[in-house]
Amino acid sequence: MSIGIDLGLLSRVTGAPTWDIPTIEVGFNAPMTLWRLVYDRLSDAMKRERLITAHRGITVTGIQVSPDGRASVHTDADEWTADLVLGADGHRSTVRGHIEPRRPHAEYSGYILWRGLIEESTLRIPLSARAARVGWHQHGKQLLVTFAIPGSDADIRPGHRLGSFTWFDARHNAYLRMNGILQGRTVVHSLYGPDLDDRVLHTLLDATIRWPNPWRSAIRDRLASRQFVGTPVAEYLPTRLSRGPVAMIGDAAHAVSPVTGAGFHNALLDIDALVRALVDIPDDIPRALAQYERSRLQLAQRLVRQSREVGRPHATHD
Ligand SMILES: Cc1cc2nc3c(=O)[nH]c(=O)nc-3n(C[C@H](O)[C@H](O)[C@H](O)COP(=O)(O)OP(=O)(O)OC[C@H]3O[C@@H](n4cnc5c(N)ncnc54)[C@H](O)[C@@H]3O)c2cc1C
Repeated sequence: MSIGIDLGLLSRVTGAPTWDIPTIEVGFNAPMTLWRLVYDRLSDAMKRERLITAHRGITVTGIQVSPDGRASVHTDADEWTADLVLGADGHRSTVRGHIEPRRPHAEYSGYILWRGLIEESTLRIPLSARAARVGWHQHGKQLLVTFAIPGSDADIRPGHRLGSFTWFDARHNAYLRMNGILQGRTVVHSLYGPDLDDRVLHTLLDATIRWPNPWRSAIRDRLASRQFVGTPVAEYLPTRLSRGPVAMIGDAAHAVSPVTGAGFHNALLDIDALVRALVDIPDDIPRALAQYERSRLQLAQRLVRQSREVGRPHATHD
């Protein structure tokens, strides 16, 4: 999928060589790229880092902190003890349940995003310079955001790129509830094209008529071949970011709508602040995490409030 990214900040925060990842300037917050190009580069850097061990396919089920301040991380495979636990476990965070036990869940924002990528080479003509830039196409409460990103082989030449579409749609809350994708105001999971009910798919196909070409026909093709993802958007307004030796960053800490184009960027700012706090106070982790919280909490709250504000015109809560 697509992501707007400050490569300078990403390089600085991760220490990984990411500054030459191909991007396209589309006139949004930050130059756009394909998330997989970023993921692959970070994975390669991680494999070369001797101090990192990745355990894949394990689910964290809970966190406990003993009176002596040691944290235990319970998983479906094993249990670890740690001096510091950092929850970067997204909008359905488990770690948040330890930090904010009375408010553990992010809340549905009132709309789902239908997202997909289109091979530019499958369009009758490549995207014009105008169509490659960010387009905000509004119809009532619905919003379609489009732009070009580098191709899957990192090619940024016209004709070789990908077109990215994100369609904000608030008409399906009852369907999402009926199918267990929403439980109350909690988002349980995303919805993949092949799993979407035919009736809803036809509603979407009919609704493409309101989008301009070349996006209209390309989106129709993606929908008809069920190559898209439906992501119900969740938001979380934090009142704290740490508790003792446990902290959270990224969407776990402050889930926001993609309309802000700022979720990943703020995860990097979290890490930057966290590292500075740990360098300043190396011998007292809870105090360092409290300093991290002080430096980030108000900014994170402001971001979530902005997210609610910009998302409100596209949301319904029926
Ligand atoms: C359509 C779209 C467009 C976006 N565009 C932008 C943009 O242009 N710019 C921007 O800055 N941001 C953007 N964002 C937001 C950005 O993608 C997120 O903010 C970012 O991915 C958050 O990263 P994260 O690591 O905090 O969470 P995630 O990416 O959700 O990662 C969490 C990870 O934790 C794992 N996990 C969860 N629970 C457990 C558990 N119990 N045990 C073990 N593992 C667990 C998950 O499997 C996942 O791998 C966009 C988001 C979307 C949906």
